[in-house]
Amino acid sequence: MSISYWNSANNKKKIETDFLVIGGGIAGLSSAYWLEKKYPTSKITLIERYKIGSGASGRNAGFVTCGSSEHFAKLVKDFGAEKAVEIWKFSEQNRELVKSEIIKGNVDKVLFANTGSCTVAASDADFARYIALADTMSKLGIDVELINEAKITSDYAVKGFKGGIEYIHDGVVHPILLLKELRSLLKNTEVIEDQEICKMESESNVVCETQHLLIQSQKGLVTLNGYLGLLWPNWEKVVRPQRGQVIVTEPLPKRVKGPCYLTKHLCYFRQMPTGELLIGGFRNLDLDNENTYNDQVSDKIQNALFDFTKNFFDFTSQAKIRNQWSGIMGFTPDGQMIIGEAPQFKNVHMMAGCSGHGMGLSFHAAKVLVESLDNAAAIPSHLSINRYLAML
Ligand SMILES: Cc1cc2nc3c(=O)[nH]c(=O)nc-3n(C[C@H](O)[C@H](O)[C@H](O)COP(=O)(O)OP(=O)(O)OC[C@H]3O[C@@H](n4cnc5c(N)ncnc54)[C@H](O)[C@@H]3O)c2cc1C
Repeated sequence: MSISYWNSANNKKKIETDFLVIGGGIAGLSSAYWLEKKYPTSKITLIERYKIGSGASGRNAGFVTCGSSEHFAKLVKDFGAEKAVEIWKFSEQNRELVKSEIIKGNVDKVLFANTGSCTVAASDADFARYIALADTMSKLGIDVELINEAKITSDYAVKGFKGGIEYIHDGVVHPILLLKELRSLLKNTEVIEDQEICKMESESNVVCETQHLLIQSQKGLVTLNGYLGLLWPNWEKVVRPQRGQVIVTEPLPKRVKGPCYLTKHLCYFRQMPTGELLIGGFRNLDLDNENTYNDQVSDKIQNALFDFTKNFFDFTSQAKIRNQWSGIMGFTPDGQMIIGEAPQFKNVHMMAGCSGHGMGLSFHAAKVLVESLDNAAAIPSHLSINRYLAML
């Protein structure tokens, strides 16, 4: 959104703050949380253009996972085994931080459950590959178990899959309740909703404008993820918006033990504690149209989700769909996040690009972001912003 001459800075309410966090998703709230811990007497202001959780953080599937086992295979291919383990462990640490800092044993408050997760093989050839993959993961110290076709049917209620890999430490959460709980832990942060940052300048201080506010801050933390390109269009090459779509059924008998990935269709599902089945994915069927900032749903993807729901489970043929929605994710070319100081501004730091895994990454990534404000070396090389500076 642009700002008119008539709505100039002189007419606006002025705010002075020590840290300005832009974006009210899991990344923005987590950044405010770690800022409060590190700078307990500082003033922190968080600006969200709609309401907290309006973006992907309030629209996801609630998997708090390290990703699918197939994702681990890709990490090994792209980064080598040692780095793949480091990347996997980063998510493990995220889950443990979420448990120790936010949930603190009150699992009912956020509907957290330590269910484990499963990646299922659609063919004999895939399962043969998974057998070798499970062996590699075990040897690298990751707690996985192979499960056979019968166990997939009994624990996940899907038909026609040949086997799978279970990773026992993952979990699920109610994303909005988690955001609510995290927000309730903030003591020094003023959260301002319904204000969109439209303009940013920085010489020594960071100066930002919404339609009604002029905010001056010593440092800015930009946590817009998939929406980054709306504020800084040249960053769209580095953080590409990608829509993810989901459906949820009416409550059904409880049959699905925990989150499950079918990576062939970038498809995933879980069952809620109250029985509703959530199915998401299939964006690979229409990648060009899913490369958007528009969070509507499309017939093509919704029909694929609907067909999957009807045909791949053994208890859903009559199930009615109750909810359909989408959200915008942010993808970098190598699939890893970026954390660091924005090159075009002084004192502006950012994190973005958590792909389909922000619930499994962002709380830990925000800790790294805050640590990096006075120590850039805190950022692991695979997350460093430096790897994309040449693209801007
Ligand atoms: C359908 C779907 C399913 C998913 N499932 C999972 C899952 O199960 N597990 C998992 O780990 N991840 C999942 N993800 C990904 C995860 O939701 C995201 O990675 C994560 O929520 C990103 O958090 P964020 O805070 O960085 O971004 P967002 O939650 O998108 O927050 C950015 C915020 O910035 C605000 N904003 C934008 N522009 C401005 C501006 N100019 N000024 C002020 N505010 C602005 C937006 O309104 C938004 O609230 C899923 C995503 C989708 C879409």
